[in-house]
Amino acid sequence: MNKKTLLCSLLSIFLSICIHAQIKRDTTKYYSFNVNYWFNLHHYLWLESFMQVNEDSTIIDQKLSKSEKVKLDKAISYYSENLIEEDLRTSDYMTAFKFWITNQNKVLNEIPDQFREHMKALQEVSSVYEKVFWPIHEKACKSVLNEYLPLIIETEETFVQDITKLTRQFWQEEKLPVDITYVAKVTKWNLRNRPYTSLFPTYVVMNAIGENDVKGNWLELLYHESAHHLILSSNYFVGGTINDVVETMDIKMPRQLGHSYLFYFTGQLTKQLLEKSGIVYDETYMVRNGLYKRYYPLLDKHLKAYMRRETTLVEATENIIEGLK
Ligand SMILES: [Zn+2]
Repeated sequence: MNKKTLLCSLLSIFLSICIHAQIKRDTTKYYSFNVNYWFNLHHYLWLESFMQVNEDSTIIDQKLSKSEKVKLDKAISYYSENLIEEDLRTSDYMTAFKFWITNQNKVLNEIPDQFREHMKALQEVSSVYEKVFWPIHEKACKSVLNEYLPLIIETEETFVQDITKLTRQFWQEEKLPVDITYVAKVTKWNLRNRPYTSLFPTYVVMNAIGENDVKGNWLELLYHESAHHLILSSNYFVGGTINDVVETMDIKMPRQLGHSYLFYFTGQLTKQLLEKSGIVYDETYMVRNGLYKRYYPLLDKHLKAYMRRETTLVEATENIIEGLK
């Protein structure tokens, strides 16, 4: 290695240490948590513009001065005109933005060209957000994280072992990144706050408000979201088995069957872990919210038997599909 190459590599190591040193994440064995200022502002503006498109604004409940209101309205208009059609989870732009912005501190490094206009809109409203909303948002995000960190540390090892056994898929090697935002994603067909996950690589976004009055719900949702990388709709063991059985039985694939398996597995495992930790958790998210109502009695019979190792996944799936006919 010549002197110049050595200097260059030392410089790049030094720079990467500087950049990474600025991002302070709370880590456990399997997860890496972050509450990011800009990403929270981004979610907030997206949701506010979305709610105004779909119904009345519901989330601005703070008193603002005239000039603050002007700044906020301008930022919301920017989102309404430019970003409202970009889904937070599925749009390539939103995913790229998420990966970049969640690695930035409040003081920004260089802004890539593709985000320059967007960041200008965020920077123009930043003083209002920082003064009026961020203290509430940051406190709520940190509070839910601090509340659940001990429980995550206590249960994650067993959860990962059990879910990887059921899905016969390796848990990803790097710590799984999770960002927490105050408000979450809503969709046209579901106005509830919802966490979401993008895959390849896996990145989970959890939120601070929602059903957090139910103790244990946040843990179940975290485990559900992070297990998305183990159950794909038509690949890997679970998705592959479902597809295999459906094809040989010559019927139409029941809607989101693999996703209902994911809900069932992660719900049941979380329930067992919570109860072992002394937390009463009568109903899983799926039951509480009436998801996949038609599938549930069949899942509860046949997937339960699979989880107890009394039957194979193929047999359980055949029985479930037979019951749905
Ligand atoms: Zn899901």
